[in-house]
Amino acid sequence: MTNEPLLEVNSLTLDYHLAGRKMRALDRVSFSLKKGQVIGVAGESGCGKSTMGLSVIGLLPQIAKIPRGEILFEGEDLLRKSQREMDEDIRGQKISMIFQNPQNALNPVFKIGTQMTDFLRFQQMNQKIKKRSSKKQLYEMAIRQLEDTGISDPRERIHNYPFEFSGGMKQRVMISMALSSQTSLLIADEPTTALDMTIEAQILDLLVKLKAKYNTSILYISHNLGVLSQISDQIMIMYAGRIFEMGPTSIVLGSPRHPYSSALLESLPGRHTKGKRLLSIPGYVPSLDQLPSGCSFHPRCPFAEDECSSITPELQMVSSDHWSACLLDQRRGRQKWKWI
Ligand code: SF4
Repeated sequence: MTNEPLLEVNSLTLDYHLAGRKMRALDRVSFSLKKGQVIGVAGESGCGKSTMGLSVIGLLPQIAKIPRGEILFEGEDLLRKSQREMDEDIRGQKISMIFQNPQNALNPVFKIGTQMTDFLRFQQMNQKIKKRSSKKQLYEMAIRQLEDTGISDPRERIHNYPFEFSGGMKQRVMISMALSSQTSLLIADEPTTALDMTIEAQILDLLVKLKAKYNTSILYISHNLGVLSQISDQIMIMYAGRIFEMGPTSIVLGSPRHPYSSALLESLPGRHTKGKRLLSIPGYVPSLDQLPSGCSFHPRCPFAEDECSSITPELQMVSSDHWSACLLDQRRGRQKWKWI
């Protein structure tokens, strides 16, 4: 990992416009990702994690509008790039994304090798490489990629159809395609959620190995803090489109400053919770068109005081490189949030 920032997101604000209503999905999200660094993005479903990932790669639906903010990638604001520039220079070239269900990303009627070589050909076209590889060379490249991701007998397997691959193998194919060019940023959106635990561990090992090999930066989105603890250098906790806490993984998970982070940890099954009741956070994540005033977590927070429903807490540095957005924590210093 180097100190050079690869991605800098500044005050990113995003609204969904639907049926005459405006719903704020991201509110002044700011963070910086260094080369070779992994940031884990956590929070319950509907907190804005995926929207943030899709904003970076420019795959938002038409109803999404970004009234302010910037997404600086290698120093250039991606929000100022045209769709054509994003297609030709960025998406699938320098920034790639993998999703929860690899089944949906592979075409069931084409063999794995055909899909991988088509993608490699498409990348070479976009990179405007004059001397393009032959079909045989593309197949050799695809076989090497499969080998890289630990798929056995890649020379045989490349002639299989997606239905002949398990879920874990399909995700390996997607990872190999995502990292097949000069990808410097991988956005992984719940890539192991649909897989069983042993396969999940293998995919995490694979990502760690490939990250070390290619010095790729990763934005790893997951609702599971246990998974993030294994792969992330930094953790970012999101709620209702805002960052609630951010800092080095060991510090955020070891000494969380925000009640929401503390609740997510208390609801995590693990050895230390053996024989103990797991926390179920009361209430629900608010819908975007009914965000509570003040701290958006206040209707679910047992520690809330009067000011919490009227004052919106800003993200503030609470210790070196550690940021939190809780009014009580900021005013009174470190609190012990006793959820159970
Ligand atoms: Fe709870 Fe208030 Fe802190 Fe929000 S600001 S997390 S409601 S104590």
